[in-house]
Amino acid sequence: MLNLAKMKSIYLDYAATTPTHELVVAEMQPYHACVFGNPSSLHHFGRDGKRALDLARDQLAALLNADPEEIVFTGSGTEADNFALKGVAYAQAERGRHIITSKIEHHAILESAAFLESQGWRVTYLNVDTNGVVDLDELQKALTPETVLVSIMHANNEIGTIQPVEKIAEIIRQFNLRQRSEKNSGVAASPVYFHTDAVQTAGILGVDVKKMRVDLLSVSAHKFYGPKGVGALYINKGTRISSFMHGGGQERGRRASTENVAGIAGFGKAAEIAQKERKGWAEHAAKLRDKLTEGILKTIPDSILNGHPTERLPGNVNVSIKYVEGEAMLLNLDMQGIACSTGSACSSGSLEPSHILLAIGRTHADAHSSLRFSLGRHTTEEDIDFVLEVLPKIVSRLRAMSPLYKK
Ligand SMILES: *Cc1c(COP(=O)(O)O)cnc(C)c1O
Repeated sequence: MLNLAKMKSIYLDYAATTPTHELVVAEMQPYHACVFGNPSSLHHFGRDGKRALDLARDQLAALLNADPEEIVFTGSGTEADNFALKGVAYAQAERGRHIITSKIEHHAILESAAFLESQGWRVTYLNVDTNGVVDLDELQKALTPETVLVSIMHANNEIGTIQPVEKIAEIIRQFNLRQRSEKNSGVAASPVYFHTDAVQTAGILGVDVKKMRVDLLSVSAHKFYGPKGVGALYINKGTRISSFMHGGGQERGRRASTENVAGIAGFGKAAEIAQKERKGWAEHAAKLRDKLTEGILKTIPDSILNGHPTERLPGNVNVSIKYVEGEAMLLNLDMQGIACSTGSACSSGSLEPSHILLAIGRTHADAHSSLRFSLGRHTTEEDIDFVLEVLPKIVSRLRAMSPLYKK
């Protein structure tokens, strides 16, 4: 029987979004009410807004080891990804029309790439191995004099696999060096740029743009306890990129629109908190992640882990539990108050399972039986114990009804 007062409520979907940190909520409060000036206005109301933007830019730059002028605030992680791909493509169209990305990127990248293909660009989608790691040999071979951008995500939102971004950056750097010495024409052609979608890692793992040697990097506030609807693109000084929001001169002319001052102030605060707390959060999540993973694989026969066994996000558990629909498990877990996600959503009208699970070689059936639990700072050991108590029962019940399941 439905009893809201008594029902447990366990949130294990931090990769979809995180609860806004209480200090972030407090930071944003004044900008919704008394500090309402337009940051572009010259009077003191405007200057107060401008100060909030400047502070947030410093805070985010510190988190990423970037310079504040290299940060452009956007309306989301999706917008930052669109900006990186389309912005570089259009700015570099005269030099070449080839882009390299991978088969397991977020839709914000894949759909932007597909759009560019429809406009005449060529896109190479790199394969990944069974753990979800990009094929570096294939990257090496895919680079051509027409290539203008490589976009490979830092860590995958579904299976948690962390990519070897520093190795990728080194391959691109070597290619650029060879190109430059072959040309010796005196014309300074712009190099192949490297973009990474770090939406799943910024504020969670160490994200250092200098160490990673990226030219562009996308982040989103709501994936690390900041507000929704605000993101940023780091753009290394000197990178040629076209704006695609035209209007006023905000963000040094790179992104027109009156700024989301409250959201950006919250984003800055989230970055400041994350810089201090993220190591503790990651250790906490990783411990519970390992407990949940081992528990599932041990107690549920015919269950397999998706993603890299060790090089993975601290809060990510993704499993395929054979002979059961992911969606059926998800809905049954939800009835017990447990919120997670799946790589297949029949009810969403799409029968195609996750492109990511297929790219790592899972069968359609195994992709349809996937569950993703993503853990965060509020996850407790009791939450994990409860999942480990409830899930095996749900699976047994569903398997008993499944014609596919033979005991
Ligand atoms: C969530 C996410 C995005 C999109 O960010 P939004 O701010 O929600 O638009 C992009 N890439 C990855 C890897 C994500 O996890």
